[in-house]
Amino acid sequence: MPRHLIIGNGTAGFSAIQAILEYDSDGEITVISLEHHLPYSRVLLTHYIGGHVSKDNLYMTGESFFKQKKVNLLLGAAAVNIDPEQKRVELDNGRVLSYEKLLVATGGKPVIPQHLQKESPDIMGLRTIEDASYIRQKSLSGAKIVIVGGGSLAIELACALREGGNFPEMVVSSSHVLSRVADDEAAAVIQEQIQSYGIRIWTGEDVTEVVHTSKGVEGVVLSGGQEISCQVVVICKGVQPNREFLDRVLPTIRGGIKVDSNMRTDIPDVYAAGDVVEAYELSRQEFCVSAIWPHAIAQGRIAGMNMTGQDVMYEGSLSRNALEIFGLPVISMGITRVPAKRDWDLDVNQDKSSYCKLVYHDAKLVGAVLVGKVEKAGKLQAAIRKAAGIETVLN
Ligand SMILES: Cc1cc2nc3c(=O)[nH]c(=O)nc-3n(C[C@H](O)[C@H](O)[C@H](O)COP(=O)(O)OP(=O)(O)OC[C@H]3O[C@@H](n4cnc5c(N)ncnc54)[C@H](O)[C@@H]3O)c2cc1C
Repeated sequence: MPRHLIIGNGTAGFSAIQAILEYDSDGEITVISLEHHLPYSRVLLTHYIGGHVSKDNLYMTGESFFKQKKVNLLLGAAAVNIDPEQKRVELDNGRVLSYEKLLVATGGKPVIPQHLQKESPDIMGLRTIEDASYIRQKSLSGAKIVIVGGGSLAIELACALREGGNFPEMVVSSSHVLSRVADDEAAAVIQEQIQSYGIRIWTGEDVTEVVHTSKGVEGVVLSGGQEISCQVVVICKGVQPNREFLDRVLPTIRGGIKVDSNMRTDIPDVYAAGDVVEAYELSRQEFCVSAIWPHAIAQGRIAGMNMTGQDVMYEGSLSRNALEIFGLPVISMGITRVPAKRDWDLDVNQDKSSYCKLVYHDAKLVGAVLVGKVEKAGKLQAAIRKAAGIETVLN
């Protein structure tokens, strides 16, 4: 009976469990999770904050699943070290677990810039059910909330808070929101939509200081000198992989854990999947952390299958962002910011309510931004994946 050990009970870990059960129903599976929760959807956390989803509906499965499938679930335990020679994992509660195949699916945590790292519950990131519950409760009690960041999570949170009756303000260091994926024109449509719902956006500004006393947060100071009075600051400046417990065995890694196309790490019989990995990105043709839900599902499944002895390959991730801003759909994929060089081409179509940009490199579609009308998204995604030529897409 092969002994499968999975560190992390999130999207990738749960997807791996399902794959292992499918291909090796006799295998023994143990899952360790730092959190005290059954697997839940982080994607739904903003919907919970906005009041559209109840807390119970965040969960992907119930306790009975683990009992019926005889999967050992160790909640509230953190892996602190692994010993690849002995094939063992040490936990923070002193337990040591052995494995034949190990999956690291520990996800990521919010990046909090050093000058904003303060001992206050009201200066926080958004990653867990506890974070979401806290923000929801503060919002419902009428607290003023400042969101630092202008990416998709920051926008989703701002919309959710507004839908829940709150009026948050966003502080965005770039000249516009979604600076990594949208150009000025697309961002203008998006920002207009957000602002039309009463959310103030401060662009080109950083939070230089959070003013807080023993009573709590009182406000933030921006780089331009303005002060915004608030009681909660939520920092949405990206995620960093949870891989510190591997520092002794993988001392040289800086970003995510590098994996091959079988989701194997450099350590024998150790696999990794989800937000903690750097996997191959198809449009950029380089290894990077992609940190989105569909990639965690796919990578977890591939890792789980390979842990049972199958030989399946992960064909690579395609960067993708999809969000809806008060009914306005926005989808971006692949390379969307173009270097000013000759072999790049843009095809841009815009009207009052929609925007479409296709990005070509050497006459091959490598990226797209769609705002308002997104019906073609599936077809474009398939075309980028196949590195299709211009004719293929237009026909
Ligand atoms: C608020 C929010 C909204 C999002 N919205 C979207 C969206 O709209 N679309 C989209 O595609 N993606 C979205 N994402 C991203 C998506 O949720 C993640 O890509 C996905 O959850 C990653 O899955 P994972 O299994 O890698 O990590 P996680 O789901 O974070 O799971 C990691 C697990 O590992 C555990 N863990 C960590 N360290 C240890 C340790 N040392 N020992 C034991 N256990 C440990 C953690 O407690 C956690 O349970 C969102 C994320 C957030 C936070």
